[in-house]
Amino acid sequence: MSDIMLSPKKATEEFKNLYPYRLELHAHSSPASGCSEVPADELVRVFKEAGYDGIALTNHFIANSDYTGSKENTIEMFKKDIYLAQETGDKLGIKVYAGAELRFHNHSNNDYLFFGYTLDELPDIFDYLNTDLETFVKEYKKESSLLIQAHPFRNNMIRMNSDLLDAIEAFNVHQNHNSRVAVAAKYAAAEGKIMTVGSDYHHPGFEGISATRTKTLPKDESELISIIKNEDFIMEIGGRILL
Ligand SMILES: [Zn+2]
Ligand SMILES: [Zn+2]
Repeated sequence: MSDIMLSPKKATEEFKNLYPYRLELHAHSSPASGCSEVPADELVRVFKEAGYDGIALTNHFIANSDYTGSKENTIEMFKKDIYLAQETGDKLGIKVYAGAELRFHNHSNNDYLFFGYTLDELPDIFDYLNTDLETFVKEYKKESSLLIQAHPFRNNMIRMNSDLLDAIEAFNVHQNHNSRVAVAAKYAAAEGKIMTVGSDYHHPGFEGISATRTKTLPKDESELISIIKNEDFIMEIGGRILL
């Protein structure tokens, strides 16, 4: 990387070699996410085939949802997809990280990607969904966890006090939504927040559009969180990299 006259093509290759591992940080499986068409085992297989080394399962975790019903059922469906994804990942040789996409009662269009919890914390997290982001962060969220506002400039989203967030998903490349990524990137930069990228995968055929590239393959959620918090990653969209 010493040659400053590297062509963009060469520089892209060099950065890809320096950050060889490809992760997806935002993906939904069926049936845990009613909007996803892809079962958890199929989702993991598809990302493995698309050249990924790890995938974070970030299913919607919503209280009082007509789709998932009771608290018990919501948690049950959520956990089942994580187990199936992890089992498949172990078989195929691709890491599966447990994430979630949280929605709080008072701003019911806003979504937050959340990492760094254990499955036995889900009942408590569920109860906090009936409060608001501020209460959750101040009363419950651990320093070691990671909270990212997803696609903050989609229709009907509200920007929150960014002190409550660790990062902003500036580049959400879901094919069916306008996430206004330019505005989101400008906002994240102005707020001085870490920017992340995510495919927000729900439908077959859209795997591989974006990736988070790392130097090492995080062995668990806490390694993933520290890589993101230390900003030791690069973002890839359409095979090109954003530094
Ligand atoms: Zn969805
Ligand atoms: Zn999502």
